[in-house]
Amino acid sequence: MAHRIALIGGDGIGPEVTTEAVKVVRAAGVNIDTTDFDLGGQRYLRDGEILSDSVLNELRNFDAILLGAVGTPEVPPGVIERGLLLKMRFELDLFVNQRPFIGTAPGHATPHDFICIRENTEGPYVGEGGVLRKGTAHEVATQGSVNTRMGVERCIRYAFELASQRERKHVTLVHKTNVLTFAGDLWQRAFNDVAAEFPQVETAYNHVDAACIYFVQDPHRYDVIVTDNLFGDILTDLGGAVSGGIGLASSANLNPARTGPSMFEPVHGSAPDIVGTGKANPTAAILSAALMLDFLGESAAADRIRTACATNPTGSTVDIGNAIAALVAGK
Ligand code: ATP
Repeated sequence: MAHRIALIGGDGIGPEVTTEAVKVVRAAGVNIDTTDFDLGGQRYLRDGEILSDSVLNELRNFDAILLGAVGTPEVPPGVIERGLLLKMRFELDLFVNQRPFIGTAPGHATPHDFICIRENTEGPYVGEGGVLRKGTAHEVATQGSVNTRMGVERCIRYAFELASQRERKHVTLVHKTNVLTFAGDLWQRAFNDVAAEFPQVETAYNHVDAACIYFVQDPHRYDVIVTDNLFGDILTDLGGAVSGGIGLASSANLNPARTGPSMFEPVHGSAPDIVGTGKANPTAAILSAALMLDFLGESAAADRIRTACATNPTGSTVDIGNAIAALVAGK
C-alpha cells in the first residue's frame, strides 16, 4: 500500500527542494501517493488562508506531511510561523522535534553523530503573556513559559527510548536549572525519574550556555540531547552550523503516539534571495524525507538515501536531486 503524503512545498525554494525529495523517495522504490497543499506566505497574500480547521482536518488523514519552507518577506514575522507551523505542531501534537547532527565540526579530525530532541509544544512557544500600555513609556510585555509534567516527561521518555536503541546509550539533559529554577527543577526531576526506568542508559547534564561551547569544541561528548523548546530552537541552529551547514540540516516534528501524521521539513527557510536560481541545495529536504521514511517503517530505503547524500554531489538543485536519485536507484 502506498504511503499517503501531504506535500506542502510552501514558499521560495520550498517547492524546488521538495520536488527533489519526492523524486529521491520514488527512486528508492518507496511507494508514495502525494497530495499537494497550497499553503504558506504566498497563499496568505492571495486569499488570507493560512491553515483553516477544515484543511487541518484534511491533513489528519495522511500518513505524513513533507514541508519545504514557508514564509515570505511581504508577510510580517510570526503570522505564518504561528498560524501554520506552530498550529500544526500544537494541533497535531507533534511534541518531539528531532534533528540528527552528523558531520565534522571545524577544527575536528573525526565526525560526530548525535541527535537533539527538542520539546515542541510547550515552553515559551505557547503564547502565554501579553502587553500593557503598548507604545507608551510605561509599556509592559510578559511572555510566560509553560512546562507540564506530562509534556516534559513524554519528551524525555522518547529521548531515553531512542538512546536505548543506539550504540552509546547516553542522554544529556540541557537546561538552565541554576537560573530558571521552577521549570529547571521540573525538568530535572522528570529526567531523573525516567532515567531510573532505563538503567542501561548513561546520563549527563549541561547548562545551555556550556552546551553551546561543547557543540563547537567537543561535540563528540553527545549521543542524544533532550531540551526545552526555546533552548532546542537555538541550539539546533548551532548544531547545523557545526554539521555541514544549512543546506544539510533536516528535522522531524513527531507525534510518537501516532494519533495523527508527523511532519518533516528542512531546517532552512524559504531563502528568497536564491529562489529560481538553481542554487538551493535540496539535500536537507531529501534528508528530511529520509527521516519520514524511518518513521513510516522504510528504514532500509532511508539508509540508502543517507548514504547517497553523504557523497555530497554538487551542481544545481536539480543536478543534486538527480545525482542522489541515481545513487539510491543503483544506477
Ligand atoms: P526564514 O525566516 O524563512 O528562516 P531566512 O532568509 O532568515 O528565512 P533562510 O531562508 O534559511 O533564512 O536563508 C538563510 C541563508 O541561507 C540565505 O542566504 C539563503 O540563501 C541560504 N540558504 C537557505 N537554505 C538554503 C539551501 N537549501 N541551499 C543553499 N542556501 C540556502
